[in-house]
Amino acid sequence: MINVLFSAKEHNWQQYKDVIPAACRQLDLDVCLGRDLAEADVDYIVYAPNKSLTDFTPFTHCKAVLSLWAGVETIAPNPTLTQPLCRLVDPGLEQGMVEWVTGHVLRHHLGIDKHIAPTDHSWTPEPAPLARSRRVTILGLGALGAACAKALAGLGFQVAGWSRSPKQIEGVTCHSGDQGLHDALANTDILVLLLPLTPATTDIINERTLAIMPAGSVIINPGRGALIDDAALLSALDAGHISHATLDVFRVEPLPQNDPYWHHPKVTVTPHIASETRPETAAERIAENIRRGEAGEPFLNLVDRTRGY
Ligand code: NAP
Repeated sequence: MINVLFSAKEHNWQQYKDVIPAACRQLDLDVCLGRDLAEADVDYIVYAPNKSLTDFTPFTHCKAVLSLWAGVETIAPNPTLTQPLCRLVDPGLEQGMVEWVTGHVLRHHLGIDKHIAPTDHSWTPEPAPLARSRRVTILGLGALGAACAKALAGLGFQVAGWSRSPKQIEGVTCHSGDQGLHDALANTDILVLLLPLTPATTDIINERTLAIMPAGSVIINPGRGALIDDAALLSALDAGHISHATLDVFRVEPLPQNDPYWHHPKVTVTPHIASETRPETAAERIAENIRRGEAGEPFLNLVDRTRGY
């Protein structure tokens, strides 16, 4: 019997309590999934941020901590976590992000807000250019960023991206390094942030990098709130340098009622819904990593703790 501790919020338990055992059965894994297992007996921990588990020291036999989230910035720096940590790469999460990013890119590209017939019934046709004359840059070309880049390139956009290591993606101009970031930002109309939050990416959109972007560009952030220096973005919006920001993630969530983003005319707030893990497909990934752990095979999507993602 493989003992799997489920440590996440109550609503997550309702979503996963049946699908994880079912996915494990598909792989002939005899799993006991529970929320109250003796610490020393635990073989794996399925984890999403919650207040009840912050000290991983007592889990002396735990072979891996399997995150239910793609972003691991809250758990990766935990000094008590010595076990391997795997983040979640889930086809359902990826598809959801592609749809959300494509929708919001198209909103700005087509000028959808402007062209919905105004209440004064004025008639000002200004057709949008074709996608091939619109530049979209994606910071982060990992599981989610690369999927979005390919989808947008497939629609004809001029797509560029930036990652830590050099990449080759068909139809996408790939940059890396400091000069690459400069070039990626200098040649964009719509910027999408899909970087993980690490010490190296915190406040990556700041007064200096915003100034590199062409006047009138748009920012779409489904990555993490702290990728953006909020004061610098608000100044750039007020100055008209950035024409709009569509923000799904924030330093503090839920976004506090008095936050200036709520009332800013050039900001669209969405409540961290760009994409979410889909229990059925995520459970298959969790089960596969348990199978790998039991077979002594390398885990999928192992987090590099020194890089923080
Ligand atoms: P991932 O596969 O780990 O990809 C991260 C990408 O960022 C990689 O291309 C990586 O470069 C690049 N990167 C990391 N640090 C960098 C640095 N210092 N300089 C340049 N590039 C850097 O992550 P993912 O699965 O695509 O997810 C990305 C983020 O999306 C998550 O961390 C999470 O914060 C966010 N997210 C948000 C939602 C939502 O609903 N809003 C849902 C899911 C995820 P390399 O390729 O060279 O490693």
